[in-house]
Amino acid sequence: MKLHEYQSKQLFGRFGVPVPEGIVADTPEAARAAAEKIGLPVVIKSQVLVGGRGKAGGVKVARTLEEVESKARDILNLTIKGLPVRKVLIDPAAAIKNEIYLGIVIDRTSRRATMMASAAGGVDIEEVAATTPEKIVRVPINPFIGLPEYLARDIAAHIGLPRQFWPEFITVARGLASAFAATDASLAEINPLAIVGQPNGGPDRLIALDGKIVVDDNAIFRHPDLAEIRDPDEESSAEKKAREAGLNFISLDGNIGCMVNGAGLAMATMDIIHYYGGSPANFLDVAGGARADKVAAALRIILADPKVKVVLFNIFGGITRGDEVARGIIGALKEVNVSIPMVARIVGTNQEEGNRILAEAHIATAGSFAEAVQKAVEMAK
Ligand code: GDP
Ligand code: MN
Repeated sequence: MKLHEYQSKQLFGRFGVPVPEGIVADTPEAARAAAEKIGLPVVIKSQVLVGGRGKAGGVKVARTLEEVESKARDILNLTIKGLPVRKVLIDPAAAIKNEIYLGIVIDRTSRRATMMASAAGGVDIEEVAATTPEKIVRVPINPFIGLPEYLARDIAAHIGLPRQFWPEFITVARGLASAFAATDASLAEINPLAIVGQPNGGPDRLIALDGKIVVDDNAIFRHPDLAEIRDPDEESSAEKKAREAGLNFISLDGNIGCMVNGAGLAMATMDIIHYYGGSPANFLDVAGGARADKVAAALRIILADPKVKVVLFNIFGGITRGDEVARGIIGALKEVNVSIPMVARIVGTNQEEGNRILAEAHIATAGSFAEAVQKAVEMAK
């Protein structure tokens, strides 16, 4: 579960991380009132659960109250990466001198929470990791010890942070680590952690200007207060329907709709599609023992995606029965009128019966995994 920027920053603040004193608004008028309280200039920030809001026009500085109102109106009318902007955060505008990246993720290889820091902050850290990985410092955190002061100082030194900011940096880094642990997060990130000039000419300070927390869904039951603030816009409607139907579903960019039983087989299916030059539209695992109604729900979700040019079924019948899957497919096809081609590979339990049912409904079948994928890739062209 993702937390909004304003929620993440409030949380960081409770762990001693300096954050701007912002106000959330859901109308242009409320944004104006917030700016009046805070004092100009302000920064208006869309609160949507995707990254790259800055580039999408979802972060704007305003110098007058009129500007606040009109820019807040523009931003509240935006849809960023498919998500409508329903709230904006009004923060006092910061005089940014430098932007640092500071985050914690779970590193599955070292099986530890790992702090990542980079002097190349502000921009996408994925881009930094891809183009200049040497600019990122990684430090595993021992779960029994947490982030001791000396390690935080070590990180500050490694990213070349001027010495005068080290005490503040240590507070921020340790606060972030505590917030990460306390929320059972899988990710906690400050980007940018900014060196900010002070209006009264005082010494520059470190402030967390952006915040992101992703809470591990498996731990949500331990955080009823966080579960309560879950934003329903976090998921696309397809993802929501899939979750409710008990399907593991992730939307992707390609055009081959996939229905597979088992996460491992679904991953292998993605790989083999790429191997034969195709591109999957989704990852969908109907899970073991899927009955006809679940298969039908899965097919409806796949077919609702306008990108899908062909549907590939890859079913390995163990607990899942081939004939059940076939009946689910036929049942769903009776409700939704589709003309796009489909190809199925069903092996294992009741495969003859399953293939017979599909053949009767004029759905192409394939004897092997490779053959099914090759057919699907061909049909998608
Ligand atoms: P993101 O694009 O979704 O990660 O949103 P951010 O909150 O990180 O904002 C994107 C960029 O906007 C930052 O990297 C800053 O360069 C800029 N920005 C954010 N807040 C302020 C601010 O208070 N003052 C100024 N001048 N720029 C800001
Ligand atoms: Mn950011």
